[in-house]
Amino acid sequence: MKTAANTKSIAISFERLTLTLAYPFGISYGTADESHNILVKLNYEGHVGLGEASPASYHNETPDTVLAVLGEIAKKQAEILGEDPFAATEVARRMDLMVSGNYAAKSAVEMAMHDLAGKICQQPTYKMLGLSGHKYPMTDFTIGIDSPEMIERKTKEAVEAGYKMLKVKQGTSYDREIIKCVRKHAPKLPLRVDANGGWNVKQAIEMSKFLAENGVEFIEQPLPKNALVEDFRLVRQNAAIPIFADESVCRSVDVARLAGAVDGVVVKLAKCGGLSEAIRVIAAARAHGMQVMFGMMIESSIGVTAAAHLSSLCDYLDLDGALLLKDDPYEGAEYDDGYLRLPERPGLGVQLRKH
Ligand SMILES: [Mg+2]
Repeated sequence: MKTAANTKSIAISFERLTLTLAYPFGISYGTADESHNILVKLNYEGHVGLGEASPASYHNETPDTVLAVLGEIAKKQAEILGEDPFAATEVARRMDLMVSGNYAAKSAVEMAMHDLAGKICQQPTYKMLGLSGHKYPMTDFTIGIDSPEMIERKTKEAVEAGYKMLKVKQGTSYDREIIKCVRKHAPKLPLRVDANGGWNVKQAIEMSKFLAENGVEFIEQPLPKNALVEDFRLVRQNAAIPIFADESVCRSVDVARLAGAVDGVVVKLAKCGGLSEAIRVIAAARAHGMQVMFGMMIESSIGVTAAAHLSSLCDYLDLDGALLLKDDPYEGAEYDDGYLRLPERPGLGVQLRKH
């Protein structure tokens, strides 16, 4: 393969980034009070591109697997990262050829490439991607699984904090009680529900009716990640509200498989490997007439802001990862009356938070 005779090259460094949650965060897979993420820096000619990996064990990644993949990229950085800071999509392709899966790790590198390119051009990432960055949906705030007393407290606090839209985690033996409690304290707020694969077909259909009666807009991932497509179709055909797939859809190739069996998909950078693939997932969903929600893991403002740059392509946003933190070390997209406002700074527009 021919390469340009250029001595400039992109250098990678990375370190652990441990984030503490304001409250322990419970979903059907378990509860955590910290998120063990990895910070990636790409250096090129005095510019530094930032990226963040937030690995999830239910997507087969851990901080150690992320560090191992990044270590491999560091060893082969001339070959993988190359010399062109504008070639994020090609870097993503080379990472895919180097190792399969490991999308949280790859996403950190790919988002850092976009940050780098924007900083060099002095333009925000959304503009570099051909987007206006102006018209986008409201983002929700998530109430994790907890005791009924804590659900009550968290809901009251969310309403007092002015959050305009809530997402409620489900997949417990007392799901109805959780919804009733949230509805009691937030009678008018739009609600959506995420079961994180915690139900079977029968439970999902029954719950959909109860949720519809309680004004819930849609259900995310009612069935387990590897549930049969036919089971998703059965739930969709009999459910009282729309069904979205999250864990079951990672990349664009997964979208076609579930076409017709769900109403929408949840896109996340950590599942798909970066902004370029996220745009392809969205395009694949649109090609199949499906709706799109953009979500995230528990991430600092680096990951949140990277996702927020694509928000004008989506119908729904669930970008509250940084709002759930006790102390976000970075600042970027800022929550403002229901919406995440993108910074006008170049690249992702994130920087260390000034305390
Ligand atoms: Mg989800």
